[in-house]
Amino acid sequence: MPTSRIPLEQELNPWVAAEARFNEAALRLGLNDGLCKVLRTPAREITVNIPVQLDDGRLEVFTGYRVQHSIARGPAKGGVRFAPDVTLDEVRALAAWMTWKCAVVNIPFGGGKGGVICNPQVLSEAELERITRRYTAEILPFIGPEVDVPAPDMNTNEQIMAWIMDTYSMHVRQTTTAVVTGKPLALGGSRGRPEATGRGCLFVTREALKRLGLPVEGSRVVIQGFGNVGSMSAKLMAREGFKIVAVIEVDGAIYNSNGLDIPELLKHRKTTGSITGFAGAEAIDPAEALFLECEVLLPGAKENVITSQNAGRIRTRALCEGANGPTTALADHILASQGVFVIPDILANAGGVTVSYFEWVQDRQGYFWNEQLVNERLEEIMVNSFRDVVGYVDKHGVNNRIAAYMLALDRVASVIKLRGIYA
Ligand code: GLU
Repeated sequence: MPTSRIPLEQELNPWVAAEARFNEAALRLGLNDGLCKVLRTPAREITVNIPVQLDDGRLEVFTGYRVQHSIARGPAKGGVRFAPDVTLDEVRALAAWMTWKCAVVNIPFGGGKGGVICNPQVLSEAELERITRRYTAEILPFIGPEVDVPAPDMNTNEQIMAWIMDTYSMHVRQTTTAVVTGKPLALGGSRGRPEATGRGCLFVTREALKRLGLPVEGSRVVIQGFGNVGSMSAKLMAREGFKIVAVIEVDGAIYNSNGLDIPELLKHRKTTGSITGFAGAEAIDPAEALFLECEVLLPGAKENVITSQNAGRIRTRALCEGANGPTTALADHILASQGVFVIPDILANAGGVTVSYFEWVQDRQGYFWNEQLVNERLEEIMVNSFRDVVGYVDKHGVNNRIAAYMLALDRVASVIKLRGIYA
């Protein structure tokens, strides 16, 4: 279905968003129907219903998913998210985006994603551990260093990765660090992994500004979402000379036209648990903050932040998609007509999975790199991938997002053609 005819009520379904971009890129590449079917259809979708005892003694059943979209280029790779509103369509789209993301940065992985429907805000640490371990036990036959390698995503962290690693290792009766990435350093994690997505955003934003003929120094940045991706991007970009003028969170937004002091803001958030009330800024309406005039807008949290309803009001030169799927397919067209330079999610936030790849390589080698080496190799991959995408823009006359999809589809399709279809 052409993007312009997607009914409004479907606009917010991430799988519809992923399909719309896939279809456009496949059409441009002239891929045949059969190959398109193979490329778009998830290879495996696992649903598990996991009984977990809560701290008060009650038994609860949680539903979890693991979707392996593609294993053509290597093991499935992608995070696991914990959230009350996780859906199979969302996990499916996120898994597909991992396939395209790993192909854009040319690392030897397919794409996967997991999710558990639960509300981490009301769960104790012990309950989270039991959910994680039982979820891992249920998907255990389908994961492994050569099969499918989970990682952190929304509401999951190093500790949860440590529990996944331990549960898997107990079952296979040997410590298997490479089964999961984003682990604590002491358990085979990689230096630079916590900052990797933000650092990747910094590298591609720098390239984008070069292409737009804008300086880094003093360029105004608005950050939406101050979790791992948003806060690390803010910290690293501020250090580089960008001016972080606003941060938007669920419970409020703050603004300082001279640039926020990000290290101080991080301290404030650590002590108070919120960005609101920060002395070095004024409070602004979070619903309006997205429309501030700026050089860079960086959505760093959830899907569907920029939709057909609000895209017309966006006033940025560049959009760096730190989150997965922050822009709907309908909004793409509006942003394009406004001349916004979009750095699409499957490129912009690929720094995380790239350093996950480094972590997996280090675990398998049993030899660990220093942070400088990690960061240098990340920079090389991000800058080269940016250039590869822009190369497709120039060659095919498409927008950045469709170019990134075309590059990814080309890479995955060529591997499938070489491997052939096993029968
Ligand atoms: N969850 C992150 C993403 O969406 C990282 C995935 C990974 O490192 O495997 O890219």
